[in-house]
Amino acid sequence: MDLKQYVEIVKDYPKEGISFKDITPLMNDGKAFKAAVDEIVEYAKEKEIDIIVGPEARGFIIGCPVSYSLGVGFVPVRKEGKLPREVIKVDYGLEYGKNVLTIHKDAIKPGQRVLITDDLLATGGTIDATIKLVEELGGVVVGCAFLIELSYLDGKDKLDGYDVLSLMSY
Ligand code: 5GP
Repeated sequence: MDLKQYVEIVKDYPKEGISFKDITPLMNDGKAFKAAVDEIVEYAKEKEIDIIVGPEARGFIIGCPVSYSLGVGFVPVRKEGKLPREVIKVDYGLEYGKNVLTIHKDAIKPGQRVLITDDLLATGGTIDATIKLVEELGGVVVGCAFLIELSYLDGKDKLDGYDVLSLMSY
């Protein structure tokens, strides 16, 4: 299935000069959404993962159906102040702005095989920060899966040495 036909490109959103890839039409179409999730499920099966980690908010949308399908757990990575129990945190830079990401300290057990999911890889800042959180807790990142990779932004450079699946590339 050609998934790109379900991605709307929105010019100058959220700022002038940014060409935003809107995945909501893909989520809106049951067949397209299922096809995308199924591809990531197949990838995750090969990796024999124990748990999935996804940054808010679109990392949840991709990661949760994969985790449900495999019968493995899902761990949310959230902005500061959103998780109720003890967390560890990391600073990161975005394509547009800066932020702090956190994860519950007891969310991952040392040695667990982790798949990280998000909708889109841009500069790689978000995924790099998420990897740091997982590794600080002793998790082993065995793969990173995205719907979309923006190859003109070199986010993959930050993922050198990690296995990456992206279903679409721009
Ligand atoms: P990065 O940290 O790789 O620069 O940016 C990726 C993060 O920002 C992802 O969590 C993603 O949800 C969001 N993001 C950045 N640009 C876009 C875009 O064009 N479309 C969508 N859907 N998300 C984006």
